[in-house]
Amino acid sequence: MERETSDSLVGGLYVHVPFCTRKCPYCSFYSVTHSPNLEKTYIEYIRQDIDSKSRLYEEYPFFLNTFYVGGGTPSVLSLDAIKALVSMVKRNFWDKSDPLEATFELNPESSTEALFYLLKGLGFSRLSIGVQDLTAKGLKVLERPHTVQQAINAIWLAQKVGFKEINIDLIFGWPGQSKGDLEETLEKLDSIKELVSHVSYYELTIEEGTRFYGIYGKAGLVEDQSDQMYEYTLIIEEQLSKMGFYQYEISNYARPGSFCQHNIGYWETRPYLGIGPGAVSFLPPKRWMNTHLGSKPGVLWEEELDTEKRFREAVVIGLRMNRGVSISGLKARFGLDPLSYYGKILKLLVDDGLALIDGDRLRLTRRGRMVSNQVLSNLV
Ligand code: SF4
Repeated sequence: MERETSDSLVGGLYVHVPFCTRKCPYCSFYSVTHSPNLEKTYIEYIRQDIDSKSRLYEEYPFFLNTFYVGGGTPSVLSLDAIKALVSMVKRNFWDKSDPLEATFELNPESSTEALFYLLKGLGFSRLSIGVQDLTAKGLKVLERPHTVQQAINAIWLAQKVGFKEINIDLIFGWPGQSKGDLEETLEKLDSIKELVSHVSYYELTIEEGTRFYGIYGKAGLVEDQSDQMYEYTLIIEEQLSKMGFYQYEISNYARPGSFCQHNIGYWETRPYLGIGPGAVSFLPPKRWMNTHLGSKPGVLWEEELDTEKRFREAVVIGLRMNRGVSISGLKARFGLDPLSYYGKILKLLVDDGLALIDGDRLRLTRRGRMVSNQVLSNLV
């Protein structure tokens, strides 16, 4: 297997929990409705998958730094299933030391005190709560199965149990969201900001295959409202910054020291192992997706990425972060210099004030980040 140099020798372990109470109309992730029977099938899938991935991990020279349980909705699992899952992971990947960061994703409606205490006891250092919006109107449009109060209670409870690293996921640009609606969510967030260390604020994109796609179509929201979305992004950036959240990636804001190390691994295109139905793994030069629940653990699709493709990905994904990419790091890793590789097109982006070369770093300017989709599509 082809090796890369030292900066890709740490990576993450992701466990996918493909269960949800019901399907949200905007969601294109792989998920199914939870049932006790399916949960048993799932745990058996995980057992077999961990077995094969831990053998792969022994062969591949990288160190697993971070652990992330995501979904789907991991909090719909029974407490026994969570215990079984974590003990299998620990036995196989962290028997001697703990991960640098361990995150568990949950939704407000399945956030109980017993779950929080269990997660604390199991060594999770970080929770990521799927709040999505803090107005009743937004939660209704997004068909979320929880109320604003339930979301706030979940955040309070996480704090009470002793979690210091708490992320909340939010979505803007949902159908019918007015500026006043956005401001209402930001005001509510302001009132509980001391409890939160990290905010992921995503613009809603309408993906094919979702119910929203059937209703609004692909272009319906995105293109017609691009000026409005630009304005919303400015408001979000400004308000979050006033609350002390520093933007470190296009959609991610955190207090200093609370950046999500697991996600930084993705943006730095480091290797990762994905466990569970539908999980993706990346051990350069290969990337592959696991089969879905109902099949034996195996490969649903795989691709082999040549050096040039991986280099371009490293640039495009790395530029999502405010600090951008290291020019010398890219040269050492791939033997390619982004300045000469992108030549004219990069010069145009720099001349237009969208990208900038800052010592050894190539990064987007604030204006470049605001129109990142267009900017990055030039470099893909
Ligand atoms: S809870 Fe999350 S993963 Fe599940 S359907 Fe909704 S958006 Fe998708």
